[in-house]
Amino acid sequence: MQFNHYGGEAALLAADLVNAYAREPGPNRAPGTKQQSDTGQELHTEQETDTGQGPDAEQRPDPGRQTGPQQQTGPEQRTGPSDPSALLAARGIVDHALTPAQQRDVRAWAHRLAPCFGPQDLAERCARLNALLDEASSRPRIALHDGTPHFHYSAPGSDAAAHVRALTAAGLASIVCHADARRLGRCARTPCGRVFVDTSRAGRRAYCSVRCANNDAVARHRATRRPG
Ligand SMILES: [Zn+2]
Ligand SMILES: [Zn+2]
Repeated sequence: MQFNHYGGEAALLAADLVNAYAREPGPNRAPGTKQQSDTGQELHTEQETDTGQGPDAEQRPDPGRQTGPQQQTGPEQRTGPSDPSALLAARGIVDHALTPAQQRDVRAWAHRLAPCFGPQDLAERCARLNALLDEASSRPRIALHDGTPHFHYSAPGSDAAAHVRALTAAGLASIVCHADARRLGRCARTPCGRVFVDTSRAGRRAYCSVRCANNDAVARHRATRRPG
């Protein structure tokens, strides 16, 4: 699949934002899927994040942060820093700090992006993305600044949060139209729920990482040996 800045990178940013601000455990659950219930021990492995929490990130106690075993996922399920600026900069999207209002906008948008990942009916996914494209209503244009014509998904000088909305909606849409909708995945390991853009050649990834694939294999193996 072709992975240019405004398709691939934008889709990867969408996944980053979901993982930082709107992560829900489990794949889009099929009816009858069993929850990993046991001791909650499983959940501890999910505390670390790989979302740009650098040494310079301010470590401030967050009153909203849940401690202890996580039982449920509120709408503010958050694993990233409250300011998404670093995440955006890491993808080369927005290179200046966001205002608090823009930060809120971007975090809220992550919750809209989240349901677009994971196994689902194609028509359903397209309807979701069309709603996002509608909401992002940007003014795409052809840019020539680097000598090669390419799309810019919002006009110069547009609001940074609006730019992120336009870019991520278009990025996900571009995966669906130019690659395969099933490449917008959600980790099959129930307590994980990290989303990902499957850039593998075969496009068959079910897990966010090798670690999750291995852990899930071990868990399934144990489950088959459990008495009762
Ligand atoms: Zn450009
Ligand atoms: Zn995972």
